[in-house]
Order: sequence, then structure tokens, then C-alpha cells
Amino acid sequence: MRIPDRTGVLAGYRVWRVIPSKWIALSKSLHAQICQRSWSLVGPTVAYCPSRVQADPNKPLVSNGPCEASPGFGCACGLYARYEPIREAHPLPYVAGSVLAWGRLVHHAERSFFRAEKALPVAFVRPYGGGGLFTEEAGEKLVRVADALGARVMEGPEELREYTEEEASRW
Ligand SMILES: [Zn+2]
Repeated sequence: MRIPDRTGVLAGYRVWRVIPSKWIALSKSLHAQICQRSWSLVGPTVAYCPSRVQADPNKPLVSNGPCEASPGFGCACGLYARYEPIREAHPLPYVAGSVLAWGRLVHHAERSFFRAEKALPVAFVRPYGGGGLFTEEAGEKLVRVADALGARVMEGPEELREYTEEEASRW
């Protein structure tokens, strides 16, 4: 079921990638896990539809161009988040966290995620360890990213859920 919903604020959970390099501006340091797009650190990130969407390679590409309103129903665009906190550990430069999402929302309940028009990161789970060469730098960047957003750094997924749901309920 995909239910359009234009009202309310939803708590969502997702993973980002922190770009550790000193040469990348702080404002461009919080990326989607896979694509190169950076998330805003001064307000909500707003979805847009790229002219060519990288959809699931196992499925036909249904988008013929940018959606009129992102996220579109038959498209893969939008800001992705899951309904439930992510429990797997994500070593740096990846970081799990939460968003408040609103605007146009497309629900993919059977796949347990939704796509949103607007999303604001509100908290991150403190990462332990890292897999890359620049783990320490990524950790320092994450602290600065969280500061810029006014986002909390929590110790685990349950705390993350509690805090995020409380934040969502204030709207
Ligand atoms: Zn689209």
C-alpha cells in the first residue's frame, strides 16, 4: 500500500555517510549512504527528483523524467527512512540516526520504509569503531555535523527511538 499523506510529522530512521576529509566543507559532509547528495545542516533537506533515477536494477525503471512532486509514486526519488530504528552496527564513516519527516510522504509499508519530501536529522547513534582509513576524522566531523544540526548523539537504538518519538510528538 502506498498512502499519500500530507499532514503530520513522522519519525524515521536511516543511515548516512560522513565525509571525513578536511577539504570537504562541513555543510557538505553528511551524505546519503549511497548517492553523492549531501544533507542540509541548517534546516530540513528537501527531496528532488533527479532527471535519471537509479532504481532497483532488478525492476523496470518506471520513471521517465523528473516527478512533478517528489517523491513521486512510480519513482525512486525522495528522502528514504525506515519506520523502525536500525539495529545493525554501522561503523564510521557510516552513522545511523533519525529524522523528523513531513510534507509529501510515500509509504512502502511492506518494505518497511517511506520516502519523504522533507526531513530533518534529529539524532545519531554514537558509532563504535570504523572500517576506513579516516575513522578518527569521520568521528570528529560527525560531532561537528550533530552540533550544526542541534542533533543529539545517543548511545543506542532504543534511546534513539525514545528521543525521536518525543521530538515528533511535539509538532
Ligand atoms: Zn521522482
